[in-house]
Amino acid sequence: MNRAEAFFRNVTARGELGHAYLVEAESDEAALQTARLAAQLAQCETGTACGTCRSCRAFLSGNHPDIITLTRVKDQYGVGEVRDQLVEDIQIRPYSFSRKVYILPEAQRMGVPAQNAILKTLEEPPEYGLILLATSNRNALLPTVLSRLVMLNADEEAGEEEEAAEAYKAGQERFLEILGRAEYAGTSEWAALADNLKKDGLPAEEALNIFEKSLRDLYLAKGGANKDFFFPQLAEKTKGRAAYLPDEAIAELWEALAAAKARVKSNGNPSVVLELLGLTTRRILTEYKEN
Ligand SMILES: [Zn+2]
Repeated sequence: MNRAEAFFRNVTARGELGHAYLVEAESDEAALQTARLAAQLAQCETGTACGTCRSCRAFLSGNHPDIITLTRVKDQYGVGEVRDQLVEDIQIRPYSFSRKVYILPEAQRMGVPAQNAILKTLEEPPEYGLILLATSNRNALLPTVLSRLVMLNADEEAGEEEEAAEAYKAGQERFLEILGRAEYAGTSEWAALADNLKKDGLPAEEALNIFEKSLRDLYLAKGGANKDFFFPQLAEKTKGRAAYLPDEAIAELWEALAAAKARVKSNGNPSVVLELLGLTTRRILTEYKEN
């Protein structure tokens, strides 16, 4: 199994599939094959690309109404072609499945105008949208396009099937460890966390999702919940914080998260983003504790 496939299987299993990916391989066929598998996984009723559910059968017979493979007439994609088949089409809700998935083969055959035409869609796809670019040459793509995509390699073998899952787990544990002592953790620790997450192969967006889940736990705890936490290992800590943090403090934490997400989206340095988030979190947690 290649790294891209392992990644897609893992995020699908966790229900954390994002919206825009670039699948890269030496050959266009290999990149496309993995992009197609990702599309199948995203729509499969069991999330496993089972091959037997209604969605998989439709896809394998080439008749899936909500998996669209872009085509082009000439050597290069025309602006009109990407506009009709992707930019405008994606605004129409899925026909009969939960998502609407777009596969763009040989993405390097988009010239600058076509790339610019899809920029906004890549940045703000509808909630149900999933865009999969396949390419054998990412260098042909503009930095502005690349910055909006999670890039995955379909040539390198995932050492083991679970490799990506293990890396994710390791990344999550690193993050939770810092969150557990967010009242004390210094900025350099948050910066080091960012570096480690990068080594784990955890994109900054996904790291921030962990933070978001911890905020949801905080809400749950504030409502008196004692179970169903995303992170039961932090339950005591979370309940302790919920006991003294007023609603406005939690609102401030959400704002800090939203700001961090916006910075990541506009290609901010993940170390700086996490440092700032850590600093703000510590300030909020300690400020209200003192009052
Ligand atoms: Zn299926």
